[in-house]
Amino acid sequence: MLSELKEQLPAGSAVEYLEKLFEKIEKSRLNAFTSLAKESALAQAREFDKSPGKGLLAGVPIAIKECISTKGIETNCSSRILRGYVPPYDAHVIERLKAEGAIVMGKTNMDEFAMGTSTETSAFGPTRNPWDLERVPGGSSGGSAACVAGGEAPCALGSDTGGSVRCPASFCGIVGLKPTYGLVSRFGLVAYANSLEQIGPLTGTVEDTALLMQVIAGHDWRDSTSAKKGFSLEGLKDGVKGLKIGIPKEYFGEGVDGEVEKAVWNAISTLENLGASWQEVSLPHTRYALAAYYVIAMSEASSNLARFDGLRYGLRVGEDQDWHTTFSEIRSQGFGPEVKRRILLGTYALSAGYYGRYYLKALKVRTLIKNDFQNAFKQVDILASPTMPIPAFKIGERINDPLSLYMADVFTVPINLAGVPAVSLPCGFAGHLPVGLQLMGPHFGEAAVLGAAQAFEEATPFHEARPEVI
Ligand code: GLN
Repeated sequence: MLSELKEQLPAGSAVEYLEKLFEKIEKSRLNAFTSLAKESALAQAREFDKSPGKGLLAGVPIAIKECISTKGIETNCSSRILRGYVPPYDAHVIERLKAEGAIVMGKTNMDEFAMGTSTETSAFGPTRNPWDLERVPGGSSGGSAACVAGGEAPCALGSDTGGSVRCPASFCGIVGLKPTYGLVSRFGLVAYANSLEQIGPLTGTVEDTALLMQVIAGHDWRDSTSAKKGFSLEGLKDGVKGLKIGIPKEYFGEGVDGEVEKAVWNAISTLENLGASWQEVSLPHTRYALAAYYVIAMSEASSNLARFDGLRYGLRVGEDQDWHTTFSEIRSQGFGPEVKRRILLGTYALSAGYYGRYYLKALKVRTLIKNDFQNAFKQVDILASPTMPIPAFKIGERINDPLSLYMADVFTVPINLAGVPAVSLPCGFAGHLPVGLQLMGPHFGEAAVLGAAQAFEEATPFHEARPEVI
């Protein structure tokens, strides 16, 4: 049972609890949900109330990001082109959640096809940050983070291609984990950039994140990149005595908000007081990471999104015209401007003559970045940094300046290029806005990362702070 839920879900009360959440969501100004699965969720809750079952998540409602396939529930990736598409199957993670008794309560808003850092590129309009309704919740899993932080769901799943779980976790003051590439099956996750992304939990506490990982991690033959490994809670309560923490010098200083930096240094001191030691390390190729990430992500996106032609499912327009016109009408009307920009840039980077200059070069940079992490983890157990260089910005402030949005991902994208795990957890405030601490580990080093996060959480009050959402 999720620890936060223990008090809220006494036997026989699942229906009541769920109804309260739905009521809150219906009055909410956050715009965190794109649809609610009221009927199926309440039916499941009634079953739970009759006989609670033994699953690890029995009776626990969970919110699911729009891009994770849910049988019988619309999955549109917050895009016009997929409006009305109802998957005939569940993603692997959904099968696992259901097998443990979790209740899918609805789908959450996101940047269209997960392309963004603010949830503003959604066809459903932006989600608002529960700490300040004028501000973005981060993205692309902004709906998932906002509903958990705003008390509309006890936990959620997001996906992280270049920071999309950690960024909104940081902006909304909750915990979010990007697992090691291959630890969680991507079967049923609508692909944006498949060599980079993983599904990850968004929860109020580290323990809850670990619990969700226990349920969703593990091998799946339907994802060819799925590792033959699971996740165990072992080590979560071992503390940080003797743990060596590396502070990547490239992740501090220029471009980082002063209050963010201060909160993160305070967090490092707390970990030191708990028995860890820290030393400066270098990840020398960090400054090339953003460029390499965006070339790779957009190239993969241009290929992955080629399948959306509106012919078998999704938006249908211009059907009385010839095939070429119909095809381009559907895609012109179906995709928003950011998705179009990325398809165009990605197609360019993969085209004959430019492939070597952009895509291949980006892959070489990716190897250098992976080597940076491998070298760092020869000296230290985990790394610590700010998750985001800035706190949540205002809605509308950056959306017309894509480069300034891309720059905000500077500390999250290297993790995806290297394929290693990283968690974001609340570590303080910049004014009234939460700040996230990012802890990164070696491949399959989730236990070390979450163990340190757990020790920090036990010693600090930040996870208890919740916004007053009106
Ligand atoms: N902000 C990054 C991007 O726009 C990451 C998004 C994600 O992780 N899905 O690509």
